[in-house]
Amino acid sequence: MNPEDFRQYGHQLIDLIADYRQSVAERPVMAQVEPGYLKAALPAEAPQQGEPFEAILADVDKLLMPGLSHWQHPNFYGYFPSNGTLSSVLGDFLSTGLGVLGLSWQSSPALSELEETTLDWLRQLLGLSAQWSGVIQDTASTSTLVALICARERATDYALVRGGLQAQDKPLVVYVSAHAHSSVDKAALLAGFGRENIRLIPTDERFAMRPEALQAAIEQDLAAGNQPCAVVATTGTTATTALDPLAAIGAITQAHQLWLHVDSAMAGSAMILPECRWMWDGIELADSVVVNAHKWLGVAFDCSIYYVRDPQHLIRVMSTNPSYLQSAVDGEVKNLRDWGIPLGRRFRALKLWFMLRSEGVQALQQRLRRDLDNARWLAEQIEAAPQWQVLAPVQLQTLCIRHCPEGLQGEALDAHTRAWADRLNGSGDAYVTPATLDGRWMVRVSVGALPTERAHVEQLWAKLQAVVTG
Ligand SMILES: *Cc1c(COP(=O)(O)O)cnc(C)c1O
Repeated sequence: MNPEDFRQYGHQLIDLIADYRQSVAERPVMAQVEPGYLKAALPAEAPQQGEPFEAILADVDKLLMPGLSHWQHPNFYGYFPSNGTLSSVLGDFLSTGLGVLGLSWQSSPALSELEETTLDWLRQLLGLSAQWSGVIQDTASTSTLVALICARERATDYALVRGGLQAQDKPLVVYVSAHAHSSVDKAALLAGFGRENIRLIPTDERFAMRPEALQAAIEQDLAAGNQPCAVVATTGTTATTALDPLAAIGAITQAHQLWLHVDSAMAGSAMILPECRWMWDGIELADSVVVNAHKWLGVAFDCSIYYVRDPQHLIRVMSTNPSYLQSAVDGEVKNLRDWGIPLGRRFRALKLWFMLRSEGVQALQQRLRRDLDNARWLAEQIEAAPQWQVLAPVQLQTLCIRHCPEGLQGEALDAHTRAWADRLNGSGDAYVTPATLDGRWMVRVSVGALPTERAHVEQLWAKLQAVVTG
């Protein structure tokens, strides 16, 4: 494809995306296809000769579209919002189109400096002090892995330059709430802590970590000759958006000199609203925090922001310095390869920059407030309705709900819950996520897709009441 063809088909592709966003509400939210449908429709081998681009675009429509579950749909209430504002989509195009890589500052100076600047803008918007510096990672899973590797190295006085974890005589221990995201568990395993050294701290009636239980677990480990290393607290857990009490947890991690990593992948976006900041009261006691700008905030996936208080420590753990990457200005600039695992870095800051400039802070704040209001409204309807329950405090935009007909309990109630959730998702009218809470099935309704207005949430409530009757 030459630049003139690109111009022509690029315009067509932009039209396709614009049409898609304008008409997505007419599609079933959840893909209604069987496993293997696409593989059966595609040739088994790549074409030997190039094909006309029209044919490729036609297959996008014919073959791919039916196999999509539509995250940008107004009736998408699944998982969590992963909003791709169109301004950020353009930023993503530009990043790919420019095709530059940030290996070092010199390899693309604007890439490094735009990332530094936009992340400092975002830091201010989130209400974090000037002591934090940020870097863009792909996902929260990676950010949390980086945090736990840094925690490990700080606790062992940089064992990586000696025998590593294998030469430690005491096992290092990580503490997480029983409601932490599965990526935290995975990060702890990948960072080498080992399953036996991950403590699941019990939670209270609001599903938040109990600080006194954390304290007790740490003391027990010290008595047993283990070395407490890190605590991962969550602001906005996946199941119920529970808020671990950071101030109390931070007091404990400071007293024992443990690393505190805060996973606010989802709820971090809400910190652009001053009225939500109480939720991470104590955040300044943390060593690292992750906020996924690619969730509710609206930067097209992927854009996970990792903030650290001590970048020198991060660099010491992550830095590589081969001769071909050294330059005369290394002492004056940030080399973002030293801030994470990959060497190559895309120009992801463009997505964030385009969105912040094009939408403006006030519009972002208004959208999040709209979603919080909609979630509260729905919670009020459900709480007031007979046989319906809201199972956890609705502090953000996620509701955990259950419909409990007279006489149904235990497994029969589980079967009812799963059946109506399947009927709703299968109808294509709305998409919700069934999940378990305290061992029983419930349904998570996550409000906050870009086009979701009050009228859609009203329709959802009507559909919920209809679908539970069979
Ligand atoms: C979404 C989410 C994650 C995982 O995010 P990825 O970016 O997909 O790795 C982790 N923790 C919480 C609390 C989340 O909401």
